[in-house]
Order: sequence, then structure tokens, then C-alpha cells
Amino acid sequence: MAGVLPEPVTRLIEAFGQLPGIGPKTAARLTFYLLRRPADQCEALASALQDLKEKTVVCASCFNIADASPCPLCRDEGRDKGILCVVEEPLDVLAIERTGEFHGLYHVLHGALSPVEGIGPEELRIGELASRAREGHVREVLLATNPTLEGEATATYIARLLRPLGVRLTRLARGLPVGGDLEYTDAVTLSRALEGRQDI
Ligand code: ZN
Repeated sequence: MAGVLPEPVTRLIEAFGQLPGIGPKTAARLTFYLLRRPADQCEALASALQDLKEKTVVCASCFNIADASPCPLCRDEGRDKGILCVVEEPLDVLAIERTGEFHGLYHVLHGALSPVEGIGPEELRIGELASRAREGHVREVLLATNPTLEGEATATYIARLLRPLGVRLTRLARGLPVGGDLEYTDAVTLSRALEGRQDI
């Protein structure tokens, strides 16, 4: 494309192309779509992208993405600090919060174990989870990783790691679509899975 398209156009196509699930065709389509839009829409997008990194932090306690650390959930005195819900991604926190059924704190791993992709325990916030679980007030660790191979392997690994601490270890009830993502599970199904959580 070099020489045919102006450099800013090819640069944006390349940038879009690096996003997950976006192939070269979609990348080009998005770029040309933006090119046809009014300048203020492009500016709004650019400023949202800039703020994304500049104005968000990772909570030092639960590792959720927030505008401050500790995050509003960790700061909320009304929440039960005795139960930690372990999820893979920040969007899973959102999915569980939407059910209104969980009133404890979270722990975001930022992924799941995946030997194929070279993701081991050191790449996830598992060590930090163990430290939190060791704090005296934690009674229960609810393993709410996705019902996928990686999610199950991660839950099993963490259960084995935390077992000696003597805290109650639970897993979301079966009934979630196998291979599915928590973030795409409807609130009713997720509420039932929370209510019916089982000891492991
Ligand atoms: Zn937090």
C-alpha cells in the first residue's frame, strides 16, 4: 500500500489490524469509515484512547481496572471482606456486579493458565491472591474463572495452592455454558451459578 495511500491512513490500518479479531479488511474498513466522519468524532476517539491509559490505574488490592487505587469496590465499607471472588478479567467483575448477588470483594487474575500461550502462574496475579487469602479475615475464596479448559485448570491450580490455608474454596455452579465467557453470560444464569456455588 506504500505510496498509494497517505501514511496516516496506512498507519491507522496497521494499528487497527493489531487488535484482536480484526483482520486487514476490517482494519481498512474502520479506517475509511473514520476518514468519512466529522473531525470531532475522530478527536473524541483519540482523546478516549489517550485517557484509557492516562486516567486509569490497576487497583493495588484486587487488580481491577479503576480510576483510583484502592478501587471503589475495595473502598466500599459495606462489602464483605471475608469473601474473595476470583475472576479472569475486569469485565467479569462487571458481569457479576450486574447480578447484584455478590457482596464480597474481587480478585482479578488478568488471564487464565494456558501452557499453549505460555501463560503460567507467574503471569497471573496468583501470588497476590495467596497473600490476600492468608489475611486472617478471608473465610472463602470463590473461584469464578470461565467454564473453559483454561478456566478450569486455573481454578484447580488455585484450589490446590490455597487448600493448606484452610479457607473455604468454592466454584461457580455447573450450568454455565461450557466454553463460554462469564462476561457474555446473562445475569439470571450467573445469579444461579453464584447461589449454587459448590465447595471444591
Ligand atoms: Zn480493588
